[in-house]
Formats: sequence, C-alpha cells, structure tokens
Amino acid sequence: MEPDHRACGPRSRRVLAWLAAAGLGLALLAAAGTVSASAGRAPAPASTGQAPAPGHMALTGKIIGIDPGHNGLNYTSPAFLDRKIWNGRAWEGCDTTGTQTAEGYTEARFTWNVATYLRADLTRMGARVVMTRAGNHGLGPCVDSRAQILDRAHANVSIDIHADYGPPAGRGFTILEPVADGPNDRVIRPSARFGRDAHAMMLRYTKLPVSDYYGQNGYISRDDLAGLNLTTMPKVLVECGNMHNAADAALLVQPGVQQSVAAALAAAIAQFLATH
Ligand SMILES: [Zn+2]
Repeated sequence: MEPDHRACGPRSRRVLAWLAAAGLGLALLAAAGTVSASAGRAPAPASTGQAPAPGHMALTGKIIGIDPGHNGLNYTSPAFLDRKIWNGRAWEGCDTTGTQTAEGYTEARFTWNVATYLRADLTRMGARVVMTRAGNHGLGPCVDSRAQILDRAHANVSIDIHADYGPPAGRGFTILEPVADGPNDRVIRPSARFGRDAHAMMLRYTKLPVSDYYGQNGYISRDDLAGLNLTTMPKVLVECGNMHNAADAALLVQPGVQQSVAAALAAAIAQFLATH
C-alpha cells in the first residue's frame, strides 16, 4: 500500500474537510443543525454512505453533467461502435467496449455504478443532474453525442468517468484535461482548475494512488477525445484506476470504493463551483 496521504479519515472529519473546502466552515453549526433537523423529516435518496454533507443544499440551482464511459451492451454491436464521428479534430469510432478486470468486471459497469452513486450525492446536495446514458444495458451513445447532451443541458461543470487499460504493473488514477481547439477554448482554464480539485479529492476520499504509469503526477492533456474537444463547459475525464492491475482492480470492483470515488467527485464539483 502507498502512504497515508490517501487514507480516508473518519466520516466526521471528511464532512468537516468538505465544509471547509467549500468555504462553508463558518456555517458548520447552522448546517449541522439543518442536517439533524431534516434527518427525520423526509426519506433520503439512496445513500452512498459517503456523501460529503448530507442534507446540505450547496448545489441548489446548479446543473451537473455526468458521462459514465461506454455501455453494457457495446460489445454486441461492432457495427455501431465503428460508425465514424467527428471528435472536434478527427474522425474516430462512435464508442468502444471499454476494458475489464481479469475476472471480467467491466469498465461499463464500474462507470455506471460510480455515476449512479455520484448522481445520488449531487441530487442530495440540491443539483440537477444530467447523464449521458440511462442505464447499463444499452448501446452508446456515441462519444460526440455524449458531449452534445451535456453541452445542450448547459451544465455548470461535467465529469467523464472511466477506468483504464494500462500495463499490469501500473497503478492509480489520472485526470485527463482538454486542449484548446475552438469549441472548448473558453473552458480550458476552468477545466484545469476543476482537474486540480478532482485530483485533490481523489487523494482525500479514496484509496487509489496517483498514477505511476500514465501522464505526469496524475495529469495528462488529451486532444483526441470528443468529450474534451467538444465541451463548452468545464470538464475533465478521470481514469479512476487501472483495471489491468490486480491491486487497482481489487479496489475498483468494491461498492465502497465506487462510493468513495463518487464522494470524491461530488466534493470536487462542490469545491469547484464554490470557489470559481
Ligand atoms: Zn473508458
């Protein structure tokens, strides 16, 4: 295992850290009162058990886009995947099957699970959430359509969720960031800031280390991905870990780890929107 900078603290410490990060430290007592007052009042949405601040409506009025990479039935239609789409710089295939662990746990399932946990967290925080697919038993949509769905929703910020197919010895998460190409020119800098928030929160909330095989210190710029080339709102793509690495794979398949990734991304979104 890697050092302690990734270790999750007790839940109360995480909540405090999130509140402080969101610039809400002074509201702590009031927020705590609100949480306890509302706790017995309404049925909570499906809880991940990892939400940064249950009941706190820090994201009221915000629209958040979530793109869970791939889809559960993509493998059934090579013809669909081979359709050519324009990614903003070049023609490429509509989508891919995604990767899987040695035991056959698919990336599509992982990204869908994280996305649904994240949607629950964000909804509880008051946001309206737009997703690029409705389940894990379909095809696509194509990567250009995914970008367009979020652009048309006028999301304040969006996240693309993936897990990687890297060398078996490589571990860790990487934040993929857009490169200016026209459509995304105005969101390059805020995307970089959001990327730093996502990086920090992945370290704070999850047991996944910074990538030791891809990018630099957990970051890489990519100019060949439709989701980043075509975005008109701040967005990054997170490769949450390496499904080909046994240690990462053992983590990525666990619901608790998937919830911790969702909690990290929810905290990153809240911090980004509170401070930028
Ligand atoms: Zn992927």
